Amino acid sequence: MNDVQSSNSMISSNNNYFKSSKSINELVLRLGQKNFEEIHIICQHRDAKRKIPRSNPFLIQADIKKQVNRHDNITNIKFSRQDKLIFSTADPVCAAQILNLEKIQETPVSTGVTFENITERFLIFDIPTNLRLSELADEIMNKNDMEVVELRRFVKLNSTQEFSLVLVTILGTFLPDAIKIWFTNQKIRQFVDRVRQCLHCYEFTHATRVCDKNLCPLCGVNHEGQCQGPEKCILCNGPHSATSKICPRHTVEQKILEFKCRNYLTIGEARRLYTQSSKTHYSDAAKINTTAPNIEEIVNQRVESIVQNITIKMEQQTTLLIEIFQKTIENLVQYLVTVFHQTDLKKSPNRKRQMINLVPPTNNPMQWDAGGSNASD
Ligand SMILES: [Zn+2]
Ligand SMILES: [Zn+2]
Ligand SMILES: [Zn+2]
Repeated sequence: MNDVQSSNSMISSNNNYFKSSKSINELVLRLGQKNFEEIHIICQHRDAKRKIPRSNPFLIQADIKKQVNRHDNITNIKFSRQDKLIFSTADPVCAAQILNLEKIQETPVSTGVTFENITERFLIFDIPTNLRLSELADEIMNKNDMEVVELRRFVKLNSTQEFSLVLVTILGTFLPDAIKIWFTNQKIRQFVDRVRQCLHCYEFTHATRVCDKNLCPLCGVNHEGQCQGPEKCILCNGPHSATSKICPRHTVEQKILEFKCRNYLTIGEARRLYTQSSKTHYSDAAKINTTAPNIEEIVNQRVESIVQNITIKMEQQTTLLIEIFQKTIENLVQYLVTVFHQTDLKKSPNRKRQMINLVPPTNNPMQWDAGGSNASD
């Protein structure tokens, strides 16, 4: 799935891929009843080869105010490196109005939305390969309070397997432990994203396309030509490239993603709680950091080899790997659970109920790259 889906792109479906026939506007409006983070809408010149002219921010704002009557709910507007305009809002109606923009200051534009922070992904197993994915989507939506955005079936080329697993993308950022299909409760496995990193400044908190910097991954400086400087990671000052997996910041980011999935948090909440806890328990965090990179390397290597051989045995194998990983972060998770109970976060009753029940679920999250969206573009 692309990070940005154009509001013009519509139904496309084959035996291994299904995409909702609802328009982007319709999906965004349905976010009203779901958990989600901020919505980011991207506007670009309708002629993809051209750019939106960077005019005075006051004039752009005045024009947007005229066209978007919920403009008070826009929290940020900025230009990306590629001269696209990126709007942020937490109001689905406002987002839909921005998606409807056809011109900004007389420049014809097309619009799209980043799906990353308004959707969640999970895997379901043993789905018959001859079942149409549109039927599966209907079944999931009819029996569960879920809006299916996309389905992707994993089968090897020319394979004759009768069952396969399917990656489901749903609207909103909340996932239950199981879903109901064909009268039974099917355990689902949270799909833990691999770490995504901005390829311009190497931070983990935004996508490459929205970043204005242009730093060298080796020395952390903005320079032309071949790197001459000594290796110095911009993230941790260590003697390695900022994109290296041995960087402790990569390890932390991976743990945040795990923590997010295990506790049904948004990425923003997970990051905040994790950072808070590592400040107060610095010694614990440091202890974990010194031992974790090797284990993570091993886990990553093993997970990669499993991905190459998708089989029904996969569940067994990953469980073993995750157990190794779980032991490493167990202490930390327990501590965070305590912090959680003490922190009086503003939560919906539903969310609160989820938080009380923080025993790690038996369906272990797994890390796996299925050619999904990527921070780089
Ligand atoms: Zn960046
Ligand atoms: Zn350099
Ligand atoms: Zn580093």
